Amino acid sequence: MNLYAVFGYPIEHSLSPRIHAQFGRQLGITLVYERRAVPPGSLAQAVERFREEGGRGANVTVPLKGEAYALASMRTPRAERAGAVNTLSFADGAILGDNTDGDGLVVDLAYHQVPLSAARLLLLGAGGAAQGILGPLLDAGVERIAVWNRTPGRAQEWLARVGDARLHRPAADDSYDLVINATAASLGHALPPVPDTVFRDAVVYDLAYGPIAGRFLAHARAQGASRVLDGLGMLIEQAASAFCVWHGVRPDTAGVRALLRDELA
Ligand code: NAP
Repeated sequence: MNLYAVFGYPIEHSLSPRIHAQFGRQLGITLVYERRAVPPGSLAQAVERFREEGGRGANVTVPLKGEAYALASMRTPRAERAGAVNTLSFADGAILGDNTDGDGLVVDLAYHQVPLSAARLLLLGAGGAAQGILGPLLDAGVERIAVWNRTPGRAQEWLARVGDARLHRPAADDSYDLVINATAASLGHALPPVPDTVFRDAVVYDLAYGPIAGRFLAHARAQGASRVLDGLGMLIEQAASAFCVWHGVRPDTAGVRALLRDELA
């Protein structure tokens, strides 16, 4: 059986099984893709059981990406750089860890024709998602990235570790082409407490998607954002990258984009 799964906690609302089923249908690949609720601290046992069942690969989501990073016996350079793993592949006794989140975001921004080359960015958050997307954003040729986090020490420690001259702390008179909300604030219907002026004339992107992202994106629009986007496209594109890791072919995402956008409307 061509068995895959997504591990997370909670996991019941994950769209990943639907996305991978659609990709499989499109490419004529028969697969089973399940949701598995895995409490923090028990990923290793869950993966062992899954491999005994014949599992070939798994996605890993909140709050297990750090555990997946530690569990992997080999990691891709992008997973190493992110310090987090969202895609596991099992072969020949090895556990290969990858991270497709940053790739998913950059592909989605390109899809929406948001330029990254020479762009001035504000990145909100310093958690797993922020760490996953930073490297690919830097690789895309941005001019600079200001990083804000609710707990400032966490962002400072992280930026010092990354050590790229284009990273800095936000200054009061900074203006931005693109503001990316990689905090979990939208999940609690909260707004990250940043000055309203940061949104003026910027494209504003929330990694959260659907109605959950609504409050933040409406606020950004009210404060003068030129355009607002949610993270549904990133979710679909990171899944397409994971699908490519496992099956060697990248699916076309247009159909799944239209299907899920209609459902979330
Ligand atoms: P995480 O590792 O738990 O990090 C959470 C981050 O959010 C931290 O920076 C935290 O700040 C901050 N935060 C939490 N509540 C906040 C609030 N009320 N106000 C301001 N900041 C707050 O979570 P994650 O894995 O990075 O995920 C972050 C978000 O990205 C989630 O909404 C997740 O669903 C989304 N995501 C989407 C995709 C996609 O494909 N679209 C992929 C990955 C993640 P402190 O450091 O101060 O705690």
